Amino acid sequence: MTNIVLFGKPGAGKGTQAEFLKEKYKLTHISTGDVFRFNLKNDTELGKQCKVFMDAGDLVPDELTTKMLIDEVNKHPDTNGILFDGYPRTLSQARDLDAFLESIGSKVAATIALEADDEILIQRLLERGKTSGRIDDQDESKIRNRYQEYNEKTAPLMGYYKEQNKFHAVDGIGSIDEITKRLSTVIEKL
Ligand code: AMP
Repeated sequence: MTNIVLFGKPGAGKGTQAEFLKEKYKLTHISTGDVFRFNLKNDTELGKQCKVFMDAGDLVPDELTTKMLIDEVNKHPDTNGILFDGYPRTLSQARDLDAFLESIGSKVAATIALEADDEILIQRLLERGKTSGRIDDQDESKIRNRYQEYNEKTAPLMGYYKEQNKFHAVDGIGSIDEITKRLSTVIEKL
């Protein structure tokens, strides 16, 4: 299994790129944000539990998130590899992911960050909010809270993966195609 973690701030284009990469490399795409939104929409027990956090732009607690993630991975026992989009977002999640993957005889092959300036991304999210229907994309204070969550809880993961020589960064500004090429260059060297 070639497991890749796509890393980047909200709006950096992880979801868009994941759609291309999963086809190109025959990977299973797991977006924790999408799974949570599906549960919200269908008013499941998990949806009820994560709603308050998501609406505020806060991270959903680790325990709930990791349990959901493991359930998702276990749905794909024969995959070539997983493209993790939006997970891990805390050090505790990163450690849990390593432990879980080890337990199934696998590991994270690489983490690739899509880098872009905050102000460009905030404008991008506000634009997306006009059509996405996502409550967390429509209010600038909620967007800024998501960036704060990222800076406090997710940014430290870069050090975690750098120590393991698994961290790569690409410029996230450019056409979709250009960015896919930059990501592909990293993936093809793995
Ligand atoms: P996203 O679509 O990746 O921007 O995620 C939307 C929201 O889902 C986030 O603001 C969090 O509330 C929640 N979420 C997604 N992934 C995670 C995660 N790994 N840990 C905690 N919360 C998450």
